[in-house]
Amino acid sequence: MTRIPLTQLPSDSATSCSTCAACCCQLEVMLITDTGVPQRFIETDDWGGEVMRRLDDGWCAALDRDSMRCTIYELRPLICREFELGSPECHDERRGMVGIYR
Ligand code: SF4
Ligand code: SF4
Repeated sequence: MTRIPLTQLPSDSATSCSTCAACCCQLEVMLITDTGVPQRFIETDDWGGEVMRRLDDGWCAALDRDSMRCTIYELRPLICREFELGSPECHDERRGMVGIYR
């Protein structure tokens, strides 16, 4: 399994993915470039666009539910790469999921 290198995370930030339940991995992720996402994780939406497949509970199918880490980190979509830790969007997601932080 591919794991997110912890060295990529800022150690002096109050906001950290390591204290977050991968909140942003419940958002719809459109595939706007080919980063090599395995086909089994790709679905076509109602408008014909490719999106990451999500499970019935909303989480991305590529998320490891035990570690809450991305199982295709090296191949993750562009949108996932550009979702910025500590951004207003990140804080919005964390606020919405505050009950499941661990
Ligand atoms: S919502 Fe923010 S802190 Fe949580 S996993 Fe996403 S980028 Fe990391
Ligand atoms: S591809 Fe990885 S980083 Fe992107 S939403 Fe899915 S689990 Fe999260």
